[in-house]
Order: sequence, then C-alpha cells, then structure tokens
Amino acid sequence: MGAGGAQSMSDEQIQAACGEAKALGLRAAVHAISSAGAKAAVLAGCTSIEHGDFLDNETLKLMADRGTYFDPNFLVLHNYIDNRASFPNISGDAIAALQKAIDPTADVLKRAHALHVKIVFGTDAVAGAHGRNAEEFIYRVRDAHEPPMETLKSATSIAAQSLGMSDQIGAIAPGLEADLVATDGNPLDDISSVRHVVFVMKGGKVFKNTTAPRK
Ligand SMILES: [Zn+2]
Repeated sequence: MGAGGAQSMSDEQIQAACGEAKALGLRAAVHAISSAGAKAAVLAGCTSIEHGDFLDNETLKLMADRGTYFDPNFLVLHNYIDNRASFPNISGDAIAALQKAIDPTADVLKRAHALHVKIVFGTDAVAGAHGRNAEEFIYRVRDAHEPPMETLKSATSIAAQSLGMSDQIGAIAPGLEADLVATDGNPLDDISSVRHVVFVMKGGKVFKNTTAPRK
C-alpha cells in the first residue's frame, strides 16, 4: 500500500492474504499509510498495521477492539530526508511528503495511546535503517513525546506478544530467554542512552561487556 497512501489492493485481495495467513497460524503485517487500507486490513484479521501515518480515530478504535498492533515508523521518514543524496531516484516532492508525514505520525501515535491500541516498535527496515534501529526510540520520544517507558515496552514485551513469543522473550522473568542489553545512562532520563549499549546478553550468553567495573 504505497507511498501515496491510497489503498493499493482490493478488499478481497487483502482478505485473501490476511485470511490465509491466519488460517495457517501466521502473522500478517500490512504496510498501510491511510485509514481506508488499514481498515480493510484490520477487518481482514491482519496482525499489525505498519506506518499508519494518517490513521483516523475510527480506525484506531477498530484496531483496539480487534487487538491489531500498530507500528509507527519514524526512522524511515527521517532516513530518506537526512540522506536524500543517497536516493537520487526519490523526487523532491516525495521527500517533502515524507517531511510532512512526521507531525501527523506523531499525532497518530498519541491518539493510538489514548485509545489503548497495542503499539510495537519498528523502522520499516529500509533506507539504511539496519544498524541504526536504536534511533527509532529517540524519534518516538522526541518527535511524538512518547513516554520512554512506553517506547521500551513496545520494543520488548509488547513486541514479543505481537510475535506470539511472550513465553520466551520480551521480559525479564524466570524461564524466559535471558536476552538483555544495558546502556550507559538511563534511557528513561535520556532516551539517547540507547545509542550507548555497553552490555549484550543473548540466551544467557554474554556477547559484549564494556561496562567499567564499579569502585
Ligand atoms: Zn513500509
């Protein structure tokens, strides 16, 4: 459902894709910019709406009712704007449209919280996002003024729930995989601390530890 925001698949096509996924016990993440496409996908039983830059409250309420996850993507907007020289095939108009989507996306995120939509964390995984995924935390807090704890939860426990893996990952609890990162600084006080990961444990095994011993 392309950059213009209009619904680019018919309701029947969306129902076929999301319905088959559901029948097979699989998830369906639908990239939808505006309400029409998102609504069709929610009604078709998709798992999550990616982007959703221009969702109206009616669609958000429907998502809350149906338990559809919302994944606003700020990094993709910023990456194209900040690195436009690397994307010569993207027109000035398209860049301007991305710029204009930042404030509305922040507004949707705020309304989604107020309407109790389950919100997860993602970057759209394009435009050089890999390796810079942590920036999404910062954009969510700075662009949308999301409480940092909500951002952290959306990337951990709520993300695990959306994957159907809450019994394995996403929280610190007995019996779960010990997947942990530690940052230099408290991200609840300064969200940019997520840029400074000093400790990584995956499945109980330490992969990185540059913490200074405490005196
Ligand atoms: Zn997308």
